[in-house]
Amino acid sequence: MKLSSRPFASQAVRNLCALLALSASTDAALLPDPLHAIDIASETPIVSYHLAFEPGTGESMLLSRPPVWRLTIEAVGLDPNAGAATLVWRHWDDWKQVDSLFVEVGETSPAVENALLPGNAMVLHQPDQWDGSFKVEVLYRPAQAGTHAQAAWGELPLWSPSFSIGQTRSLFPQVYQDYGRVHAQSSVSLTAPDGWAIASGWGGSNSSMSRFEVDPTHGNGLLAFGKPLDAFSGEADGARIDVLQYGRAHKVAKPVGAYVEKLAAAMLDDLGRPFIGPIVVFINDRGSGGMATDYGLILSYSSDTPDWQVSSPYYQHFVAHELFHLWLGIAIEANESITWFHEGFTEYLSLWYLASTGVIEKDWFAERLIELGAEAEQKSAWGDRAFADQSSSWRDGDGPIETMAYKAGSVLAFEMDLALRQQGHPGLLALLQHLLKAEEPGIQLNELEAWCAAHGLHELWAKYVDGTDIPDFRSDIATAMEMPDFFEFED
Ligand SMILES: [Zn+2]
Repeated sequence: MKLSSRPFASQAVRNLCALLALSASTDAALLPDPLHAIDIASETPIVSYHLAFEPGTGESMLLSRPPVWRLTIEAVGLDPNAGAATLVWRHWDDWKQVDSLFVEVGETSPAVENALLPGNAMVLHQPDQWDGSFKVEVLYRPAQAGTHAQAAWGELPLWSPSFSIGQTRSLFPQVYQDYGRVHAQSSVSLTAPDGWAIASGWGGSNSSMSRFEVDPTHGNGLLAFGKPLDAFSGEADGARIDVLQYGRAHKVAKPVGAYVEKLAAAMLDDLGRPFIGPIVVFINDRGSGGMATDYGLILSYSSDTPDWQVSSPYYQHFVAHELFHLWLGIAIEANESITWFHEGFTEYLSLWYLASTGVIEKDWFAERLIELGAEAEQKSAWGDRAFADQSSSWRDGDGPIETMAYKAGSVLAFEMDLALRQQGHPGLLALLQHLLKAEEPGIQLNELEAWCAAHGLHELWAKYVDGTDIPDFRSDIATAMEMPDFFEFED
């Protein structure tokens, strides 16, 4: 087994798969030796992950002990002839510097053959008469919110006095043997002492214990321990919606929940449900942005943010943007060579949904889109760089290229939406419907081009995607605002 720092690319697994037991045929496909595949398939190993939250203790600084996230991994039914069991952490790069401070290996059986350092894998000793089972305990110490360590290592769970929150992709290791990844029946359970509520992207909010028949190493999700400051529970098109707010700030879970419910209902109606389970929104008082994961959204609302901010159209657009990523960015996987597609089109379509559901005024839709276009004209590479340019990264830390991706990208999405409607097509959401039906979740530039060519956008593509022309978006927005059904989508 190779133990470099990045031995395995993270697997792109559609959300839907994550909750289904992996089939024997999947096992066979990943194993080089067909005879061996039959052995494995006839006896599926079982891997159980148990994560226990242990709150810190003590009132004064000197006596205080920070909380611990204690993970126990138990496996049975591994093939004793298939090599030593190895645990592989996928998102290790970010915290290589912090392992001794924040990660500790507890009791293991069998013993550890090599320690965690310096790679992202831990190999267990293989006894002569190994029965194919193991038990490993790993302790994670969350970084205190507001510290340099927490700012530097965003993959670490964080803690503050009333809550602790983390991402699953960095916590739960995958199990490997010599033939590759062990495909097992997996489950995860979460526990916390009395008074510490548990919430997860898999199941929303629960009181003190949760168990899920999921493989927690698939995709990324959010976990939180602590009593929410405010909560909202609703439903949209059969999907449960939980909004949970943590920390100290104005209570905003209910107003956020109210518009998430409206937006999600419309998005689910048009685009279907690419995920199983609830839509869980975690709001916390740390950071300044948001992120969508396969299981849950995280949004910040800091303690010094005024209460009116929650109903400002800018904040609503921010929330809608993250929500829309569940479809574009997660279900239709993000591809950083076309960042402008998953970010710019998300920016536009989330704005369109805000107007079409009546959360914002249609006038604000027009104002905001003009504002985005104007900012792109002034501060981005729009006009110099073509959207079709894949020669360098679209991420430059909010520099001219990334600004073009987000802001000019949203104008490009609008231009496509308008052109489609003017030619009698239903609109841009049809492209997403098409992509959501695809077998492969990824999307490439040439696939976008092919769809556009097939839907009368050949000229638009040549000018604004292959070329560097800037459309006359101000007058195009005025045209769209005159169209009686611009904010409707009939497929
Ligand atoms: Zn985004």
